[in-house]
Amino acid sequence: MFADRAKIMIRSGKGGDGHVSFRRELYVPNGGPDGGDGGRGGDVIFEVDEGQNTLGDYRHKRKYKAQDGEEGGKRRCHGADGKDIVLKVPEGTVIMDAESRKVIADMSGENRRQIVLKGGRGGKGNQHYATATMQVPKYAQPGQPAQELEVLLELKVIADVGLVGFPNVGKSTFLSRVTNAQPKIANYHFTTLSPNLGVVDTENGGFVIADIPGLIEGASEGVGLGHEFLRHIERTRVLVHIVDAASTEGRDPIDDIYKINKELEAYNPEIAARPQLIAANKIDCIYGEEDPVALLKAEFEPKGIQVYPISAATGQGIRELLFGVKELLDKCPAERVVFEQEFFPEDVLITENLPYTITKAENDPHIFVVEGPKIEKMLGYTNLDSEKGFAFFQRFLKDGGILDELENAGIQEGDTVRMYGFDFDYYK
Ligand code: GDP
Ligand code: MG
Repeated sequence: MFADRAKIMIRSGKGGDGHVSFRRELYVPNGGPDGGDGGRGGDVIFEVDEGQNTLGDYRHKRKYKAQDGEEGGKRRCHGADGKDIVLKVPEGTVIMDAESRKVIADMSGENRRQIVLKGGRGGKGNQHYATATMQVPKYAQPGQPAQELEVLLELKVIADVGLVGFPNVGKSTFLSRVTNAQPKIANYHFTTLSPNLGVVDTENGGFVIADIPGLIEGASEGVGLGHEFLRHIERTRVLVHIVDAASTEGRDPIDDIYKINKELEAYNPEIAARPQLIAANKIDCIYGEEDPVALLKAEFEPKGIQVYPISAATGQGIRELLFGVKELLDKCPAERVVFEQEFFPEDVLITENLPYTITKAENDPHIFVVEGPKIEKMLGYTNLDSEKGFAFFQRFLKDGGILDELENAGIQEGDTVRMYGFDFDYYK
């Protein structure tokens, strides 16, 4: 089964509860409180594993849970911390919130390890709650709850060059000839069900090529397995169109290129705008009067797309093509697409089911008063003077839907938002 995508449930460990107990010693009748603190719950951590190249494991097992922290004990005994769970994924895996599809982590480049769900803090034992007036505290703090989230894992291959073309034009044959990859080659459609990667070594440096199989008309609308594969193109820098110049299956190579570009454009215009080359394949089979290579050149070279006649079967023209690819790569920026984090599991925990009201101040229609217990609590433990704290607060307002509600209530730029004694100017 093709497995570059999986949906799993992850859960961090609950913090252990604080303990309630009192010292009992011989000859000490009324000992003080000695309940220990609960242990921290384990984190859910994702880590890149060089040895893996599919998400196959995650299709069999769907639930992953870190260990809970232990409850505190008598005699100030600290409960044991829960063990973290480390989930290994191939490089290039993007982790998303399953519901909103927002990115939580992109496991590529520098990012080899990321905590996605934090374990709950342990609760404090009753030893901390003795005061002058309360000598026998029967209260201990409960541990923080576990966090649970459904996440979508998607492997977005990292390659310099993407090979695109309709089925049977010779992509796999080409890849196996120029790289160390060993893809399946056959004369029927959809043989290659996972993206194949290979490294090309040239005299002046190597690069990685990915065969993007299954591109057919309607792929951008999800026809066939189209969407599954288009994802892999996102990170490539240069696209090589492979066409069957000999029309061995009756395809029109010029039309094919327009069709593929239309699919790319519909999927993501930014991808369609990347530098392209055309490999006019199967030239060992050209017999007719008209020269299809000349037609391709006349059509595309004025548009700045170079055409290279090749035969993946005999090897003819391949060297020149690779040279051309390398030249294009050297010209275009080397930085790769990295997906920024846009979903922060910790914030969501706090913003869920947020009850609040928005009212206009009686004496001034440009002041909007926002009130609710969670907002008050939130303001209580956010340091708005720090940049990080303020950014966190802004995300909280956005993710909690408060900004939307303010818009609905008719707020304008420059109006004031008032929350528990804090006034903010409203800007989009
Ligand atoms: P893909 O679907 O694009 O990966 O195409 P394949 O690489 O599986 O090739 C499809 C068929 O075309 C196979 O039977 C290949 O042997 C054949 N083929 C590929 N390249 C050439 C070529 O340059 N010349 C000839 N004559 N046949 C080729
Ligand atoms: Mg193939």
